[in-house]
Amino acid sequence: MAKEDDLMAPGHRTCAGCGGAIAARMLLRATGPDVIMCQATGCMEVATTPYPETAWKVPWIHSLFENPSSVASGVVASLKKQGNDHTKVICFAGDGSTYDIGFGCISGMFERNDDVLYVCYDNEAYMNTGIQKSGGTPEYASTTTSPPGKHSKGRLGRKKPLVEIAAAHGIPYAATASIGYPADFKNKVKKALSIKGAKFIVVYASCPTGWGIDGADTITLAKSVVQTGMWPLYEIENGVKKFTLKLPERKPVSEYLGAQKRFKHLKEEDVAHIQKEVDEYWEKAEKSNCIL
Ligand code: SF4
Repeated sequence: MAKEDDLMAPGHRTCAGCGGAIAARMLLRATGPDVIMCQATGCMEVATTPYPETAWKVPWIHSLFENPSSVASGVVASLKKQGNDHTKVICFAGDGSTYDIGFGCISGMFERNDDVLYVCYDNEAYMNTGIQKSGGTPEYASTTTSPPGKHSKGRLGRKKPLVEIAAAHGIPYAATASIGYPADFKNKVKKALSIKGAKFIVVYASCPTGWGIDGADTITLAKSVVQTGMWPLYEIENGVKKFTLKLPERKPVSEYLGAQKRFKHLKEEDVAHIQKEVDEYWEKAEKSNCIL
């Protein structure tokens, strides 16, 4: 993969080690050049397209936080009118746009089953506006709007199960991925593009600035979240869930949590609580009809 041409130019303005930028490069390596990208507001828009420059070597449209999925639906309709049945339409957006602000339009696009691949790069907070909590922020994480203190352990409540919500619309394909597992991500993008209708992939994309990690540890962390069982890699194809990576054994979640400043305030019992939730998830998964 390292020898493949990049459709995203270097020299853009993301922070060193930005997982979103790595996700974008991996995505484009899987799609090839015959795509139209519809992008939401977010770090990857702000940092890659300061007027009059752009890092994107493919057609690219920026709209708002709210509506890149609606723009993509319009692009699909326009391509159909032109008789173009080869160009793929991709939505690329962060978790703020996907889990929260844009979800109404996304739900509409899923309901209509428009021929769009929606990829959410999930860095688990609103990073470009100042690290505020989003619906993708994990339990107990510290953000500027969920600070830990005397009366709080950080973000309360759990991250939304977005892949399951997407699949519940009856779309043909929904999956998780991580930039720590590029071949898995690439295979999922290729598979999604071979399917007609609406597709959804949420890719874990580390954020050194928002999480308090060294930029050099971006990929280590994107592997660790999978290896501790906190970010299972799976796909839901026509309603059937299948794990795409079987872990021989899970590492303790403390290894993942302890590496990040956003979880530094956690006490031993908080880490034990998260470990228990992860163990329960996998217990249920092993008993269910999912293919492990
Ligand atoms: Fe990337 Fe995070 Fe920096 Fe935004 S704040 S450019 S997501 S590393």
